[in-house]
Amino acid sequence: MEGDKLKYKRVLLKLSGEVLAGTRTFGIDFDAVSKICREILEVARHGIQIVMVVGGGNIFRGAQAVSMGMDRPQADYMGMLATVINALALQDNLERLGLPTRVQTAVVMQEIAEPFIRRRALRHLEKGRVVIFAAGTGSPYFSTDTAASLRAAEIGADCLLKATKVDGIYDKDPMKYDDARKLNFITYLEALSKQLKVMDATAFSLCMENSIPIIVFDILQEGNLRKLLIDGEPIGTLVSSKRGNDGYGCG
Ligand code: UDP
Repeated sequence: MEGDKLKYKRVLLKLSGEVLAGTRTFGIDFDAVSKICREILEVARHGIQIVMVVGGGNIFRGAQAVSMGMDRPQADYMGMLATVINALALQDNLERLGLPTRVQTAVVMQEIAEPFIRRRALRHLEKGRVVIFAAGTGSPYFSTDTAASLRAAEIGADCLLKATKVDGIYDKDPMKYDDARKLNFITYLEALSKQLKVMDATAFSLCMENSIPIIVFDILQEGNLRKLLIDGEPIGTLVSSKRGNDGYGCG
């Protein structure tokens, strides 16, 4: 699929901290970052507009610190700062590959990045820059998945690509059950009622209310982003309101 034939022309790519940790359990795996950035470069060269929301779980997760007795808002501020570290690592790698980028943060830190300004972000996209949104929504008690849904709606993304380390959504935890079955398609309501851990309810609801399809896929599998966006292959699991004739229909 090329040019006019591309199904998704503006996409929001949500990268969790876990994906950036690659094979590690903590911190940034620069091999994984560079692998992901090469995949992004390939689809950006086909003219797809890319905005990214990056998580911070590889560095700091608010809820974990709360379980150790920390004050929730304070812990969440730390979590939001962790996402900025990841965003800067991604920016550095993408720019070394020759792809122009801008980081915009939901918490102002103007020496490091631009503040989030929707119209400016849209202008960057028109100019072929990848925009990386960091610091989540800027408010505690939210997740970067919710930030991803919010930004996807704000900038008019055609879909939200939730990049993970597994190849889609399963009917039960594939790490625990050998007979877990991968789903090609699931509705927002099914995802909400089954309380799937893949995204929180606020994030699913925002996408549902704004009719933004979600695709959960394995970004560490080489070529998946191209297959999904350029070749139009039904990679991963599609979460939407109803089945379409896009290859995700059965199962
Ligand atoms: N966070 C927050 N508000 C937001 C987004 C994130 O307070 O709008 C904090 C929260 O503490 C969270 C941390 O930032 O645990 C890192 O984000 P998240 O856990 O969503 O990262 P991911 O799981 O995608 O790596």
